[in-house]
Amino acid sequence: MSGHLAVVGLGPGDARWLTPEARATLDAADALYGYGPYLDRAPARPGQSRHPSDNREEMSRAGAALTRAAQGARVAIVSGGDPGVFAMAAAICEAIEAGPPPWRALDVTIVPGITAMLAVAARAGAPLGHDFCALSLSDNLKSWELIERRLDAAAGAGFVIALYNPVSRARPWQLASALDLLRRHLPNTTPVIFGRAVGRTDEAVTVTTLGAANADAADMATLVIVGSHATRVIARPGCPLVYTPRVGTEASA
Ligand code: SAH
Repeated sequence: MSGHLAVVGLGPGDARWLTPEARATLDAADALYGYGPYLDRAPARPGQSRHPSDNREEMSRAGAALTRAAQGARVAIVSGGDPGVFAMAAAICEAIEAGPPPWRALDVTIVPGITAMLAVAARAGAPLGHDFCALSLSDNLKSWELIERRLDAAAGAGFVIALYNPVSRARPWQLASALDLLRRHLPNTTPVIFGRAVGRTDEAVTVTTLGAANADAADMATLVIVGSHATRVIARPGCPLVYTPRVGTEASA
């Protein structure tokens, strides 16, 4: 088998959240591919080439990394958080499935990372302590109508909901619209967490309610967790603890 491709999760930002396996895989690579700001997080190593690309160029980045690996190089392609969550691992699989036969013979490894949802949850308490789901609000690759159907189903079934990609410059209205939809299912007192740039120097985590949640508080670096009927807040000095208990959720779903 010639060439090796690792798809590496860098975690949400804090270097302490880069796993030892991810660090070792980055160290061992001849060539690194990824969105520029993520590549900047990988420690520099002499002799290693770096190929930054724009955020939206996932498929061309995947193709470039696979081509290089097929030439026999040891290649790492990076994602923030976990590479399997709305990120490069699926893009690599899509490229392999549609690509030339030699790409299927490559040694491909997916190196997991801490996804944003888990990092934000940990800061707030245990909001994902019972059943939950994750949705991307980006309608680049799916219709807004499908997103609305999934939000309806998830809130109707009593899931806590983690919202990735809540807004972007090209998608300014989606989060406000999603919150309005969720207000039809859940009381205004439902806890909502905005976790921004968690694990980075400009981190900000706020706990609010569905009634008071303002979509303008979110940007591209924010993950939003909307509680279920069962999610509770323990008031205490400093930051409250938000949690979803492991028992008693059925009756209230
Ligand atoms: N693969 C990534 C997710 C990529 S989608 C992961 O597993 O975390 C990009 C979205 O992830 C952002 O719009 C935001 O919703 C969320 N996100 C990524 N890093 C974050 C961080 N440090 N703090 C809060 N949210 C983050």
